[in-house]
Amino acid sequence: MTFVGIDLGSRAVKIVVIDENKKLQEKVIGTMSFYRDFTTNIDGKIHIDFDKIGIKRDDIELVSTGYGRNNLKIYGAKIINEIKAHVYGALYQTKLKDFTLLDIGGQDTKIVKVEKGIITDLMLNDKCAASSGRYLENMAEILEISLEELINCHESPVDLNTTCAVFGESELIGKIAEGHGIKELAAGVNYSLYKRIKPLLRDFRNKRLVLTGGVAQNKAIQKYLSRDFEKIIIPERPQLNGAIGSAYFAMKKKGGNKDAQ
Ligand code: ADP
Repeated sequence: MTFVGIDLGSRAVKIVVIDENKKLQEKVIGTMSFYRDFTTNIDGKIHIDFDKIGIKRDDIELVSTGYGRNNLKIYGAKIINEIKAHVYGALYQTKLKDFTLLDIGGQDTKIVKVEKGIITDLMLNDKCAASSGRYLENMAEILEISLEELINCHESPVDLNTTCAVFGESELIGKIAEGHGIKELAAGVNYSLYKRIKPLLRDFRNKRLVLTGGVAQNKAIQKYLSRDFEKIIIPERPQLNGAIGSAYFAMKKKGGNKDAQ
């Protein structure tokens, strides 16, 4: 039996297929092209063309999760909420039972405290665009550099204080006009995201921080956060964590892979 987990993100749809022993297949597809090229909506349910995506499967259990209220009905899938999906993903990927989970995605930030494998506290911030990955993408565009360039800049960050994503763009343009270097400006963008997330973590103190979501791949954010925690753990597939958790949830419901629980 195979277990398929789907994370319907705001920037990317993540799909993984796992069996009893290990992850078998994975796909990350831009959200727009996923809906446009690989799905059909029939009576309000999304039918996924797995063959077109290139995912082989038989005898499957399908579990999906979404972001915010965007928990769309996938045909044949059980829906779980995103906090559950991400915690299951972190448990499966890290094999840890006690940690704070920080997931920074395209449109939201989730913080979850996990003790003895159980959720004991959580916070979801989906109101502030400037605390999410999309902000970094927009700011990279203004700087006319790629996201890959932006995420590596952490030294001598230019001070950016505007708390709003839209006004932050004007502030950045002002700093460009003042003549600051691109690397320092890019570091300033990364640092401003970190500055907004740091206070949210205050109530979630822990030795270990598990960092997931697409932004977990951001080297500058990793560096800034590593000052505040004894240990930062980035699972092998941080952006796929919600999809992995969904597939793992499906597996557990069928009584599989007890060792990993
Ligand atoms: P969602 O679940 O909302 O689609 P993701 O968890 O996929 O969001 O994260 C998307 C964000 O991750 C993007 O906005 C971007 O900032 C960041 N990101 C995506 N790919 C990379 C990468 N290769 N390196 C660094 N950051 C990335």
